[in-house]
Amino acid sequence: MAFARVAIVGLGLIGSSIARAIGERLPQVIVTGHDASDTVRATARNLGLCNAIADDPVAAVADADLVILAVPVGRMADAAAAITPGLKAAAIISDVGSSKAGVAEALARVLPHHVVIPAHPVAGTENSGPAAGFATLFDGRWCIVTPGPDAPADAVKAVSDFWEALGAKVDIMDAAHHDMVLAVTSHLPHLIAYTIVGTASELEEVTESEVIKYSAGGFRDFTRIAASDPVMWRDVFLANKDAVLATLQRFNEDLTVLQQAIRRGDADKLEDWFTRTRAIRRSIIAEGQDDAAPDFGRKH
Ligand code: NAP
Repeated sequence: MAFARVAIVGLGLIGSSIARAIGERLPQVIVTGHDASDTVRATARNLGLCNAIADDPVAAVADADLVILAVPVGRMADAAAAITPGLKAAAIISDVGSSKAGVAEALARVLPHHVVIPAHPVAGTENSGPAAGFATLFDGRWCIVTPGPDAPADAVKAVSDFWEALGAKVDIMDAAHHDMVLAVTSHLPHLIAYTIVGTASELEEVTESEVIKYSAGGFRDFTRIAASDPVMWRDVFLANKDAVLATLQRFNEDLTVLQQAIRRGDADKLEDWFTRTRAIRRSIIAEGQDDAAPDFGRKH
């Protein structure tokens, strides 16, 4: 492990999960933390998340070999600017933002003299805040590392090794490609969930509470996604605008195809389509990225 001291800025779901995972898997590493919120810092202290939690971002990163920014995508530049005076010259800066090209640009602008190795652990839940984190969040999940073209190979390896030590599998990817892939696999599904649940909540007035009362499994799964953090997701859509809009265009075209198939009574079209999508679900389970048990293996 190349890092003796790690600082985490932002102690919500992801930051607190990193702190917990380090505590369990890399107990020799000293972890310092900071969050802009007094309440979050107090909770993090009560939970014993780090070796020390600093009120001041500059103090939090002093002596750190690796600094991880775990704040909403739209706050990355501010968070980086706030820690700059405390950074060691050799410190590596990373982040966990859900979109990468814009964050990489912002961090390179604010931290021109430091090595920045952006990363995205593709792991999370719909909950936020320090109490929502857990040490096994990254177990067997992908962490996509998106180094710029000039990133030193040893720094890329050190960040990759760090994530593997926390239980993740690592892939290296170009930031723009990451943003296109995640637009399809994560950002568009969230947008659809926000739309469906928003539409249903308006229809709720028409149906006098029957939407919630009779919520079926399909709708309930969307409500879980649509309960995700509003600030985080606001920032993701603003930051990954181009890739999301391109994917949404394609989605609208496919929706029109299904709309036509329903209108024309094209049973074969519908059945072929649904057979293909069922196979995708099965391959995700075969890859070990989800649970085959009913209701996604949730315990009730
Ligand atoms: P979260 O639970 O809301 O935690 C973010 C924390 O950062 C909050 O406590 C927030 O405080 C704090 N913060 C905001 N601006 C700050 C600043 N300038 N300096 C220090 N602290 C600041 O969010 P999260 O789910 O952990 O997400 C964090 C990052 O991980 C985001 O970039 C997100 O895109 C990425 N990510 C999320 C998931 C997921 O499923 N949730 C998965 C992978 C990656 P306030 O609440 O007071 O603003």
